Amino acid sequence: MTNFRMYDIIKKKRDGGVLSPDEISAFVKGYTDGEIPDYQAAALCMAIFYRGMDLDETTALTLAIRDSGETLDLPGDGVRVDKHSTGGVGDKTSLVIAPIVASLGVKVAKVSGRGLGHTGGTVDKLESIRGFRTDLSAEEFRKIANDIGLAIVGQSQNFAPADKKLYALRDVTATVDSIPLIASSIMGKKLAANDDCILLDVKTGSGSFMKTVEESRALASVMVGIGKKAGKKIRALITDMDRPLGYAIGNALEVVESVETLMGRGPKDLTELCEILSAHMLELAGFGNLDDCRIKAHDAVSSGRALEKLCQMVEAQGGDPEWIRDPSRFPRAPYTRFVTSDRDGWIESVNTEGYGEASLILGAGRNKITDPIDYSAGIILKAKTGDRVRIGDPIAVLHTSEENRFDRAEAVFRASTTIGDHRPDDETLVLDIVS
Ligand code: URA
Repeated sequence: MTNFRMYDIIKKKRDGGVLSPDEISAFVKGYTDGEIPDYQAAALCMAIFYRGMDLDETTALTLAIRDSGETLDLPGDGVRVDKHSTGGVGDKTSLVIAPIVASLGVKVAKVSGRGLGHTGGTVDKLESIRGFRTDLSAEEFRKIANDIGLAIVGQSQNFAPADKKLYALRDVTATVDSIPLIASSIMGKKLAANDDCILLDVKTGSGSFMKTVEESRALASVMVGIGKKAGKKIRALITDMDRPLGYAIGNALEVVESVETLMGRGPKDLTELCEILSAHMLELAGFGNLDDCRIKAHDAVSSGRALEKLCQMVEAQGGDPEWIRDPSRFPRAPYTRFVTSDRDGWIESVNTEGYGEASLILGAGRNKITDPIDYSAGIILKAKTGDRVRIGDPIAVLHTSEENRFDRAEAVFRASTTIGDHRPDDETLVLDIVS
């Protein structure tokens, strides 16, 4: 913090000022190096949450996050493409899409996040596979990405370490749902990974950080703007998160559902969205038009090539690929409880964030940075928005390793489910495209 006092930076933003690139970079460097304590960083995040940041400040924050570690240059052939979601409930698309496009010859070297707020994270999900390592050295990451065409790591001392610290801090200080903080977190990681093409899946609705399509468009425009300035081929899809994706919520439960999707027997919404997102990634990478790319994505699943690609990555990163070939090997939570409908009717709507919170209460997420995760915890939905239910029908099964978590989780789950007399409209998966 040579020329700046953190106190002055916090006060300036608290009072609605515009931070200079030097102030932003001093904050990011000081926090990453451990010179700035969590309480001052948390105060600045809260000031940014309330006061916002303009595009120049957000770009400066993104670049400072990128420059906090190495950037990943991958010499060799192949176009590098990544997709990143802004976060949702039951959003396991990365686990399906990355192997699909990698099996078709696109290189995916992905820096992913952990669970954040009520949403799950790819890194936590992957770590539910016995032995799987997301803390690869830069050398290991490069080698696996080059040899197999697919590697997924978490933020670390190597890649975007500033985001690793800020992400964990925001998770527990109610400072996640802020456009500049989300945009810089995602784009800082994406620019550090140094991909050629980036597809953003910007979630919108009750289960995402952006609750309206307008807010999601604003977030998408900021991220696409930053990506373009950095010379990337970039596109954002605004997709629905008023309903959870698929039926599984929680780390191991979601990996199992992803594997089933790669086996061609996944839920309809998840399968369709994964095909659409894969097609956009392939099209960005120059593999043909969207329709042809969708057929290629579909074939990668039906031929078994995408599943085999996932097995190769799991093995290369220290996990047991037999768990992927036979997902019944994933340990099951010792306790389960059925939640049943208390009336006849339609599931009219759900508060998807509430479903994420119920899963967190069951043990699938964190309340404090140091909290351990119960990988087997979560929810399997038995009925979703638009389904007809009768009194006594199961609408979900809750899974946990600690029985005393059930009552609170069930109460949150029930309060988040509206059963009424009207059949809701069918879901539209993709609401807009920003490019
Ligand atoms: N995903 C990220 O990587 N960062 C955020 O802030 C939100 C979602």
